[in-house]
Amino acid sequence: MTAHLLPPGIEVFERGWLSANNIFHFGDGDVSLVDSGYCAHQKMTLDLVNSALKKHHLITLNKLVNTHLHSDHCGGNAALAEAFDCEVYIPAAEALAVKNWDSALLSYDNLGQECPQFLHHQVLVPGEEILLGRYLWKILAAPGHDPHSVMLYQADHRILISADALWEEGFGVIFPELWGEAGFEEVAQTLDLIETLPIDLVIPGHGAPFSDITKSLATARSRLDYLASDPDRNARHGAKVLLKYRLLEWRSRDIKDVNDWIINTPALISTAKLLNMSMDEFTQWLPKSLVKSGAAKLEGNFLLDLA
Ligand SMILES: [Zn+2]
Repeated sequence: MTAHLLPPGIEVFERGWLSANNIFHFGDGDVSLVDSGYCAHQKMTLDLVNSALKKHHLITLNKLVNTHLHSDHCGGNAALAEAFDCEVYIPAAEALAVKNWDSALLSYDNLGQECPQFLHHQVLVPGEEILLGRYLWKILAAPGHDPHSVMLYQADHRILISADALWEEGFGVIFPELWGEAGFEEVAQTLDLIETLPIDLVIPGHGAPFSDITKSLATARSRLDYLASDPDRNARHGAKVLLKYRLLEWRSRDIKDVNDWIINTPALISTAKLLNMSMDEFTQWLPKSLVKSGAAKLEGNFLLDLA
């Protein structure tokens, strides 16, 4: 519906929740991709990139840029870097963690997710610009959902690549609050920053591009008020999203294995503490509450994903 607002040389491959959208930038001297999806989908990501290159009579990808390093945004990095020998760009604040593949600093262990190790070549510094395809994009800091996330803004065409900082209906889970770091205020600041920009089109990390920025900002602000006025809400929501995300990949899982994953996932352990639940209570509560919200179903000993 809004695809006609995309200027020549930009294409969005809308994926789902397990893999973030892939945003292609085609130029004469540069071919870039923003975000690479989840590792379980890396074959599909490779196929998408290969067929897009073929359609444009191009041979290779020059740059792969990550808005942030959650596993649904960079899980295809290793496969794409191997296939195309492209330069990988990550937010500057993550450089050391990636260089050392420091699982305590990267989010994968903490969130109970997987991401194949990759190397980075360049960093994205907020305030600087980067050429993607045929246009220059300004790099903007977008803390909140992830402290190191960046957004990309193209001023001539008034386009914002917002990652998980702004969706048409809300934003990504405010993860830092789950383990006692600040996030609510950062989300508010990032929404304030978006409001200062002249924008005709937002390309989010998940969902279709959208144009009614005023409406989306209002939705996001009321969602933020709802969550920040009672941090337990954010904690319960975050826990459900983490389990749902895992279940999207599993499709179905023995409840014993589900509970095993829950009690071994640090972000969920701290969420249980925040909610004043023992791990026993928490493993009782979490799958049930996902079922109650209609996102999963229990069949015998198995927890099943409901799309
Ligand atoms: Zn994210």
